[in-house]
Amino acid sequence: MSNTNIRIEQTQQSRLPAVDFDNLVFGKILSDHMLVAEYSNGNWNEVSIVPYGNISISPSMSALHYGQSIFEGVKAYKLNDGRVSIFRPDQNWERFNKSAARLQMPEVPKEIFLDGLKQLLELDQNWVPSKDGASLYIRPFMFATEAALGVHPSDSYKFIIITGPVGAYYSKPISLKVETHYTRAADGGVGFSKNAGNYALALYPTELAHKEGYDQVMWTDARDHKYIEEAGTANLLFRIGDTIITPHGDTILHGVTRRTIIELADKWGLKTEQRKVSVAELIEGIESGAVTEAFAAGTAATITHISKIGYDGKDYELPPVETREFSNKVFQYLNDLRYGKIEDPFGWNFIV
Ligand SMILES: *Cc1c(COP(=O)(O)O)cnc(C)c1O
Repeated sequence: MSNTNIRIEQTQQSRLPAVDFDNLVFGKILSDHMLVAEYSNGNWNEVSIVPYGNISISPSMSALHYGQSIFEGVKAYKLNDGRVSIFRPDQNWERFNKSAARLQMPEVPKEIFLDGLKQLLELDQNWVPSKDGASLYIRPFMFATEAALGVHPSDSYKFIIITGPVGAYYSKPISLKVETHYTRAADGGVGFSKNAGNYALALYPTELAHKEGYDQVMWTDARDHKYIEEAGTANLLFRIGDTIITPHGDTILHGVTRRTIIELADKWGLKTEQRKVSVAELIEGIESGAVTEAFAAGTAATITHISKIGYDGKDYELPPVETREFSNKVFQYLNDLRYGKIEDPFGWNFIV
């Protein structure tokens, strides 16, 4: 499918002049246009870019009942020279199709996901904030649209991309509660996919953690609750001695930020390990001083330092944020790269 196959219907009246770019609440302000693609009879048929607005659905639409619903989170930045750049969207496209396959949904071709996104951003490029730290959040998603109550794979799907400006995300260090009762994902399950149900199941345990004074839960393995997996919507990385370590396996979401950080650490000559990390190893390492850095990594904030970890009724404090050489360096480097202040030797910036 070539670019010309996307029908474009421009908005009659842009909502841009009414947007207060100094007071952006995450996810509340959506740009003028959205991309919508329809799948039926085994093919992606209509692809169009239309004004952002409500869509009509059937009450028996299968995604509502049985959860065939997946998404991605991507960001675009305004470069120093005024151009718009999307950060590693090819990675999101690949992961999206892995999620799709696991949930028995059709793959979305590159021409729709990546070329379509590019065309959407060309049209809405003025929605990309230029302030330092700000960006355009991009949300591609797909859901089952068949109107039928039987439990079977839907025969039709909708793929949509919506976008919206988000402000600088100055994340405060967070506290995590090691979760030893509830489970996010089990072996053979859907933990590696960005499907809607993975977020619904986390709400209740997260609320319990909030009530105990923690910001997020730190998920552990479903069987023994002995090994660390990840945080709410971010992966976890630790510096133990001179090694950057991150949990691995199909029960965690393989983040683009996590991968990017590991690639940078490798390039900078640090040792990296993707392996099981037990809660015991972490706690002992904090107590002995071997664990010098702990942070969460994801598209939303890039890096969020972890200040304290609660386990079995006790809190374990991590070293002051100012002393964390690696995570602070990565954060600065990625910031500079994404805004075009430094060279992009890896080809991570996808210029619109
Ligand atoms: C999206 C997400 C991440 C982070 O992935 P990025 O590609 O770095 O944004 C980590 N864990 C979960 C559960 C997620 O949903």
